Amino acid sequence: MSDYKWCHGPSCHKSKTQDRIRGSKGSKVLRTRKVKQHQGYQLGTSFYNWFCSNGCYNDFANTHVERIVAIAPRHEPLETPIEDPVKTKHETSYGHTYYDVPIKEKGVDTAE
Ligand SMILES: [Zn+2]
Repeated sequence: MSDYKWCHGPSCHKSKTQDRIRGSKGSKVLRTRKVKQHQGYQLGTSFYNWFCSNGCYNDFANTHVERIVAIAPRHEPLETPIEDPVKTKHETSYGHTYYDVPIKEKGVDTAE
């Protein structure tokens, strides 16, 4: 099993960087980058195993977005039940006062 894949970015081979230059004199090319295969916790499923950069990942996602969302289409919104939000006043030790509205999920034990 090889320890790399070719970057799946559709335009990876169009980026003008020195590390992509391959070939012999007179027939040089810009080549798609190799992507090292990461192992271990979560890295095995990281997109960095298929793409050399966020840019290449975004190019791929933007090119194929219709097919990507078809994998898990969403026709209804998802909802997370929460407790009724309560505006809360805070005062710091140096006299600053601020407010926030903590959002707590229902059914999650927040006792310490
Ligand atoms: Zn790439």
